[in-house]
Amino acid sequence: MNDAIKALADRLIATGHLSKEEYCALIDGRDAETAEYLAKAAVAVRQRYYGTKVFVRGLVEISNICKNDCTYCGIRRSNRNCERYRLTAEEIVDCAVEGYRLGMRTVVLQGGEDRHFTDDVVCGIVRSIKGKHPDMAVTLSLGERSRESYRALREAGADRYLLRHETASEEHYGKLHPPEMSYQNRMRCLRDLKELGYQTGCGFMVGSPYQTTENLAGDLAFVEAFQPEMCGIGPFIPHHETPFANEPAGSVELTCFLLSIIRLISPKVLLPATTALGTMHPQGRELGILAGANVLMPNLSPVGVRKQYELYDNKICTGEESAQCIACLAARVAAIGYEIVTDRGDFAKDE
Ligand code: SAH
Repeated sequence: MNDAIKALADRLIATGHLSKEEYCALIDGRDAETAEYLAKAAVAVRQRYYGTKVFVRGLVEISNICKNDCTYCGIRRSNRNCERYRLTAEEIVDCAVEGYRLGMRTVVLQGGEDRHFTDDVVCGIVRSIKGKHPDMAVTLSLGERSRESYRALREAGADRYLLRHETASEEHYGKLHPPEMSYQNRMRCLRDLKELGYQTGCGFMVGSPYQTTENLAGDLAFVEAFQPEMCGIGPFIPHHETPFANEPAGSVELTCFLLSIIRLISPKVLLPATTALGTMHPQGRELGILAGANVLMPNLSPVGVRKQYELYDNKICTGEESAQCIACLAARVAAIGYEIVTDRGDFAKDE
């Protein structure tokens, strides 16, 4: 780590802010020592608000039917070799209830943009979960919808919404999505979600095709400006049935470096060590936690459909029952000196 890089790292640690040019210099000029230096600072910052707690959010993958055609995604509509499924409302509520029984106080309902899941259908599911377990936080991750739709879901009781911005560059966005999707609409969705009072999560893939260091610096500047409660980042991993089948995957090392930076930008942000990170490295999620992440998302989907929710190749955690998935994560977390906590894990309140 040379003096210039150390000066940037120190300023990021002290202020939580760098310019885009400075983020570029920090990313391009990093070495193992820089990564260790930022990780140590990120862990110290997280310690202040969350101690050694790692929050768990049970993930229910409700449908792999999607009207969109995102170029990177394995469940894009053009993938004719994807065996499609859709859980019934009853199955979804059962998964949430099982998660509750296993200690989860947050459930995340995620899926492709499946037209079956109208506002009425999703509101019914949210109300049903809230009716059975009022103390369970319900997070939705169902893609782009209208402001009215987001409002209806919020009024039905949804607490949080995850919608990765994918990239904060309109030009890069256009290279990852078909022409009928737009960066402007994605950003409109994120603004609406925040205004409607959701705890909102944005995020991006690391190493997505055509991504430049400038793009990543733009993503970091966006996180600074948007101030999300959650931020999901993970390596891009190619899926063999997409146009990006032969593109290289993103790196674990860079993902962890960016996790540390995001923790320093936003000390209280809820930051998952993602399944994609665990797919790229046997200890990927542990490395993510040690870099500053503080959320894990065990899979609560019915085992029979898990392989079909294939966003990218070789996805892990598709074979085990929910209870085993949670036990495995708890053991991994304990082994690195952290502890799984099962409370709602809301965004930390001000000191
Ligand atoms: N339809 C929802 C959920 C998308 S899946 C939505 O639009 O938000 C959740 C996330 O998985 C996506 O936001 C994307 O960032 C990530 N993802 C999709 N394909 C991926 C791939 N090939 N490699 C890594 N992450 C991927």
